[in-house]
Amino acid sequence: MTESHVEAMVKARIARVAAEQERKRLERQEFAAARSAGLARRHAQKLRRQAPTPKEIPMPAALRPVHCPACRRERPARLTGTVTINGTRYEALRCLDSACGLLWLTRPEQPRTAPAAA
Ligand SMILES: [Zn+2]
Repeated sequence: MTESHVEAMVKARIARVAAEQERKRLERQEFAAARSAGLARRHAQKLRRQAPTPKEIPMPAALRPVHCPACRRERPARLTGTVTINGTRYEALRCLDSACGLLWLTRPEQPRTAPAAA
């Protein structure tokens, strides 16, 4: 009788351990599924973020060094497009300094913004 009680206790313990292992296995599966779904979503988000917006696709010779009015020094800038205001054509330049990013307009004939008169 004592033996069967011990056997029953051992079987119950084995069953508890098996149930715990199964629970942990399911938990790992759920975490892995959530993780891969999150990775795919973040990867797609990153690709969208890195894709150039249509207006910022560089034109030929779109990169040029100019005097950035905000940085007050020579910076590489990107010609992001042209606009016409009251019949006058302007080029839209964006400072490529990551801390600046100023977007400003210049006349095509005068691509360099004149530095402040010294
Ligand atoms: Zn700048």
